[in-house]
Amino acid sequence: MTEKIVKSAVLGFPRIGGNRELKKHTEKFWSDRSDRWVGYEGDSGNKEENTAAPDLSGELEREKNLIQVGKEIREKNWKLQKEAEVDIIASNDFSFYDQVLDLSVLFNVIPDRYKKFGLTPLETMFAMGRGLQEGPVDVTALEMVKWFDSNYHYVRPTFSNSTEFKLNGQKPVDEYLEAKELGIETRPVLLGPISFLYLGKADRDSTGLNPLSLLPKLLPVYAEILNKLAAAGAKSVQVDEPILVLDLEDDVQNTFKVAYDQLAAETEVEIVLATYFGTVSPNLKAIKNLPVSGFHFDFVRNPEQFDDVISILNDKQSLSVGVVDGRNVWKNNFANSSELVNKAIEKLGADRVVVSTSSSLLHTPVDLDNEKKLDPEIKNWLSFAKQKVTEVVTLAKHASGEDVSVEFEANAKALASRSSSSITNNPEVQDRISGITESQSTRSAPFEVRSKEQQEIFKLPLFPSTTIGSFPQTKEIRINRNKLVKGAISEKEYEGFIQSEIEKVIRFQEEIGLDVLVHGEPERNDMVQYFGEKINGYVFTVNGWVQSYGSRYVRPPIIVGDLSRPAAMSVKESVYAQSITTKPVKGMLTGPVTCLRWSFPRVDIDQRAQALQLALVLRDEVNDLEAAGIKIIQVDEPAIREGLPLRSGKERSDYLQWAAQAFRLATSGVANQTQIHSHFCYSDLDPNHIKALDADVVSIEFSKKDDPGYIKEFQTYPNHIGLGLFDIHSPRVPSKEEFIEKIETIMKYYPAEKFWVNPDCGLKTRGWQETKESLTNMVAAAKVFRERY
Ligand code: GLN
Ligand code: ZN
Repeated sequence: MTEKIVKSAVLGFPRIGGNRELKKHTEKFWSDRSDRWVGYEGDSGNKEENTAAPDLSGELEREKNLIQVGKEIREKNWKLQKEAEVDIIASNDFSFYDQVLDLSVLFNVIPDRYKKFGLTPLETMFAMGRGLQEGPVDVTALEMVKWFDSNYHYVRPTFSNSTEFKLNGQKPVDEYLEAKELGIETRPVLLGPISFLYLGKADRDSTGLNPLSLLPKLLPVYAEILNKLAAAGAKSVQVDEPILVLDLEDDVQNTFKVAYDQLAAETEVEIVLATYFGTVSPNLKAIKNLPVSGFHFDFVRNPEQFDDVISILNDKQSLSVGVVDGRNVWKNNFANSSELVNKAIEKLGADRVVVSTSSSLLHTPVDLDNEKKLDPEIKNWLSFAKQKVTEVVTLAKHASGEDVSVEFEANAKALASRSSSSITNNPEVQDRISGITESQSTRSAPFEVRSKEQQEIFKLPLFPSTTIGSFPQTKEIRINRNKLVKGAISEKEYEGFIQSEIEKVIRFQEEIGLDVLVHGEPERNDMVQYFGEKINGYVFTVNGWVQSYGSRYVRPPIIVGDLSRPAAMSVKESVYAQSITTKPVKGMLTGPVTCLRWSFPRVDIDQRAQALQLALVLRDEVNDLEAAGIKIIQVDEPAIREGLPLRSGKERSDYLQWAAQAFRLATSGVANQTQIHSHFCYSDLDPNHIKALDADVVSIEFSKKDDPGYIKEFQTYPNHIGLGLFDIHSPRVPSKEEFIEKIETIMKYYPAEKFWVNPDCGLKTRGWQETKESLTNMVAAAKVFRERY
């Protein structure tokens, strides 16, 4: 390999394996339960004494296989990058669960409740990530939250007054050495100390503790791991401070200088400070004069921050130019990227410029080569992690003056084929978009008028009860779906099966006395994929998995062109369900923003335009449902909160405007008497944002919120609302009394005539037994309140 002048860097590679190896082996490890608790005396005796000084040899043996799988994945990933001639390859980008959780473990930020039972380090980490109920151990998971505006979730570092920072193992060093042994020099990556604290929270025994106040205690330990890396041979370390793209108060900004000065004084290793997913422009003050050897910025998201960040570099610092998108699946635009890289070279000189991915490639599927079923024309527009690695190298070679004209020509051709393709462009859709009017996205009467007209038809009792849509997706349902895909049963047979499932769900709901029924969604594999498969302009992968959290991976569909609906998508099932009952059945659709957020969007047109296209598709569906006699239609928008831009300002207010507009465009084509529902999963929503959707009834995930302040927040919500009364992630069955108590608390703040009774979310991941019991108790509680009011 010849030394290039301009180097290439990859900030991290997906760790799930090309065929989801990590998931398979991790889940197997979890399900093969440890036998060490056999003979454990149940609840008698002192738990801690019972398990004192356990013999872990059996456990460690059991872990060996999983540890080996991790090692093999790392080796593959490093070799792939090495063979592609990447100059700067990341290590410590691997994790069995979550890289932030790994750091909590490394720095001993482990709440005491996980330490009592003599668990192995690996078990302790999993217990923190997902809870553990085994033998005497019964601990819940730490809080999990979204990683910035991505669909990845991290486990929140959870600090308490008794947190004692010290190194617990040396994972980053071990993995650095592991690569070195393979002959591969890597650059270890670590989340930075300030982001680590800032993204964390105080544990329940230490409310009021500000994690950032722990910085002086963390820094010496942080320096210790950097020094160990240096001693092992690492020349530089990538330290991620992604919070630099958030709105930061002055005191947080000022902390950077203090922290990095101290790290520089205490360590020899070079630090490359990395941010991504946004612009650092408003926080330049925080990174000016930092004693680091270089910076990495995301120029895919925010190319306009270029001049700002150049202005704070000293004359030695390097600039890692993130131009290959770590968040999407499109081929890079070589012409645009190299223009930016050249601009950097002009300002700084070639030896100070590095070409890199915009962020870790964790958020992209592993390998496009695995997609055998994609239309070759479309495939030629795409690039997954493995292909992106090559793109980075090609761009670096180009910048170094090497001849990559063949690659550049092929790239330009692929891009041109995409922009001129009839798959990308549908003039009819574009015409419709330009013809959208304000009145199309406004219901023809205000809520007060609509709700009266609706009540005349539905005559619902007070505290009307309903569910969010899905009922248990049983093994039988999945088997039949698979049979249809494989051609083992005919369309007709499958339809018959689905109808029998719908009937089962309808009869059950009638039996227990729910007021507004659902058909149960048995025909849907996934709430976005199901519709995407029926919309022109979407494509699907076979193996395009991306880690969402732990061992949960998602396979987002890809929006490749203007979106249109060739035929009705959900009418058949809803009409069938309504035909077999006299109670109202809700039609059930996934909203435009959620379809967009849970897909890989196009990058040639903006997200607003794509949301509006989806809105028109859904508008036609809503209207068709209404015409077919469906009188209540729910359009779910669980992802509306996560789309909120990270910073306040114009981008955020624009988003709120178009997200609400898209929802209203989808749902405003109906008569006053048709009742529109919506549903949101994450509940840290601003009531005003929800108000802008003007749905007649909304349901919100709520059961895990015990904060009365939160109940009050929605007190003034003007339309009807159902606050989720039980957690659908857990098999636990709440008693009737528990439901009553919950509703009583809420009724302190809410007018009874606005309140609906429903679970947190859909029931697809639950079993039938607990579903029956929970819903029966919920309806019984609703009846109690009906009598009281
Ligand atoms: N209607 C969907 C269901 O019940 C909603 C799912 C969701 O909000 N994530 O499954
Ligand atoms: Zn939900």
